[in-house]
Amino acid sequence: MFTYLDPAVRRRLIAQGKLRRIDLRGNALDPSVAPPEGEGVINLLGPIPLPIHLGRVNTRVQWYASVRSTELSKVEELAGALRTQGGSKLFSLLASSMAVNSVLLAGDPTQYQNPLVRVHSSCLTGDVFGSERCECGPQLAGALERITQEPGGGVLVYMAGHEGRGIGLWAKAATYLLQDAGENTYQANRSLGLPDDSRDFTDAGALLHHFVGDKPMRLLTNNPKKVQDLAQMGLAHITPVKHVLGVGDSNRRYLDAKRQWGHQLDEQDLS
Ligand SMILES: [Zn+2]
Repeated sequence: MFTYLDPAVRRRLIAQGKLRRIDLRGNALDPSVAPPEGEGVINLLGPIPLPIHLGRVNTRVQWYASVRSTELSKVEELAGALRTQGGSKLFSLLASSMAVNSVLLAGDPTQYQNPLVRVHSSCLTGDVFGSERCECGPQLAGALERITQEPGGGVLVYMAGHEGRGIGLWAKAATYLLQDAGENTYQANRSLGLPDDSRDFTDAGALLHHFVGDKPMRLLTNNPKKVQDLAQMGLAHITPVKHVLGVGDSNRRYLDAKRQWGHQLDEQDLS
């Protein structure tokens, strides 16, 4: 059972400070009382020590799982109904589509001055399969490498619901077929009647407020829109740091479309 926690376990984790709740400004809320109605409450489970061996990166971070209260309660309600009806297959189907984000912390967040940060959008094909149609895999491994080598530490926020810039894995597969028929990555989204980029960075903003606070931070990104979206969340002191990795023959056209769309990439980066 994915998000269901036995009440006794839940109470113990709260007492240990390992199950906490924050608002969208990153402020701690009391996890032992029912969350206020409406949007904007995030549950955090952790820290969980995570030894990592990814590509040439060999490191250790603290992992937090993060999920919205609204999403959690809806799923738990449905899950409860399914459990009583014995529909465990449906239950796991429900679980698999819920966006549980992750935070990977390197170093001591109370000591952060100007930490190095990456907000990474999930990409099954790139991050897990190592697909070279995009540059997500090398960007993820490279960000982990850079963040964990920083003397002052840093944060990687992994956004689980951001597959295909927010359109989901199924639609992304369709856009790949459209791209192979000549469209670029944005045209393909439009052909499906979907936005160029529907990613919502609200939860990432809340998590950064919580772990970094009002301090300045350096963000590994080539995407000015990501910086703007986080600035709208009140994170005003973000310095973008270029993060160009994994450029190759299989993704040069894709990256060129990103460059024309507004990503801070120049000809040299793609050569
Ligand atoms: Zn990707």
